[in-house]
Amino acid sequence: MNSDIATVLFNEGTIEKKIRELGHQLSIDYEGKEPVVIGILNGAVVFMTDIIRNIRTSLTIDFLSLSSYGSGTKSSGIVKIRKDIDTNLENRHVIVIEDIVDTGLSLKYLLEYLNKHKPASLKTCILLDKPKAHKVDIHIDYKGFEIGNEFVVGYGLDFDEKYRNLPYIGILKKEIYS
Ligand code: 5GP
Repeated sequence: MNSDIATVLFNEGTIEKKIRELGHQLSIDYEGKEPVVIGILNGAVVFMTDIIRNIRTSLTIDFLSLSSYGSGTKSSGIVKIRKDIDTNLENRHVIVIEDIVDTGLSLKYLLEYLNKHKPASLKTCILLDKPKAHKVDIHIDYKGFEIGNEFVVGYGLDFDEKYRNLPYIGILKKEIYS
């Protein structure tokens, strides 16, 4: 696996430090609010399990899975819900945990969908953002790192369902997917 990586962008220590910072801020902002933290499967699983253990207030968790109809390393923007949440979100404070925002189309769809459940508040916590790739206006409330348009894997992010278990985030060698 390691030999398929061209460059390591964020190592374990850098990710750990960023998650502690995000967790600290979320602990302050959600003190006493008992938020519902919704992880978007499968990419956000690793980030989700780390971030919730850094939030020092009572919370509940749920998961949602989207399927995006694209192939390879490009997303089509056509999104459907594959696994829905089980929690009633009405009047709850909701935090969406996503691995990466590229065009922003998945997150836009997701926020519109979750808003229909009438939450008391709805915020986004995103590990990686590709600001130059956005095709829609997206507000990210809590952000890990900004990156360029390169295709990254590791720490939950996959190519062809592989590399999710790498403990760091790296740029995949082009010859692997081209
Ligand atoms: P968007 O709808 O913002 O274009 O796409 C978001 C989804 O595309 C992410 O949840 C992720 O599944 C996938 N994606 C976008 N960029 C990358 C990337 O650099 N690496 C990986 N592994 N997935 C990506």
